[in-house]
Amino acid sequence: MAKIYLFFGPQGSGKSTQAEKLSVYLGVPYFNTGDQLRALSQSNTPQGVAVAESMKKGELVDDGTMRSLFSSFVENNDVSRGFVADGFPRKSSQLELLESLAQEYGWEVSGIFIDIKDETVEERLSHRLIIMNGEQVRREDDQPDILKKRLAAYRHDTVPIINWLKSQGELVMIDGEPGIDVVFNEVIQAINGQH
Ligand code: AMP
Repeated sequence: MAKIYLFFGPQGSGKSTQAEKLSVYLGVPYFNTGDQLRALSQSNTPQGVAVAESMKKGELVDDGTMRSLFSSFVENNDVSRGFVADGFPRKSSQLELLESLAQEYGWEVSGIFIDIKDETVEERLSHRLIIMNGEQVRREDDQPDILKKRLAAYRHDTVPIINWLKSQGELVMIDGEPGIDVVFNEVIQAINGQH
């Protein structure tokens, strides 16, 4: 059965690093909404402008855009052995979409929650840099006031999804405080323990 791994965690938890590593390790496609949306926000189309606007404010991007991003990921990648998702689903409507496709395709869903303390979020994001157009820059939405809104959206929209997966026995918790390799080791052990 195709297995899909959904990564969750607050901003700065390192979930993208871990999710990407896991997709390479398993040799399955990687669905990263943040990077795809950042690319889309650079396009000079009505959709690109709307996405840029939501991201700049630290708000979640509209359901229609997310539905089409996810559908095109599923259509354009070989997901027959599963995939790793990072940043999706982030709210109940996205979870419903995912669950209906999981039923249709026979995917087994597994959530991985990377847990870090609030102080670590602040500490890590105060000096996080990303590469944009070949240059190291600070993410506009990592500025403190926008970050506050992103964390509020995370608590309001995403935490209920995490709790729901937990109640279904479909979530493993990983301590995200140690270094990348230690955390990755824990991720591997956790997913192997589930088989
Ligand atoms: P991230 O890089 O995962 O922190 O995502 C950056 C921004 O992209 C978020 O603050 C949202 O504006 C948007 N975003 C990422 N994933 C989603 C999603 N699943 N649904 C709606 N908006 C999203």
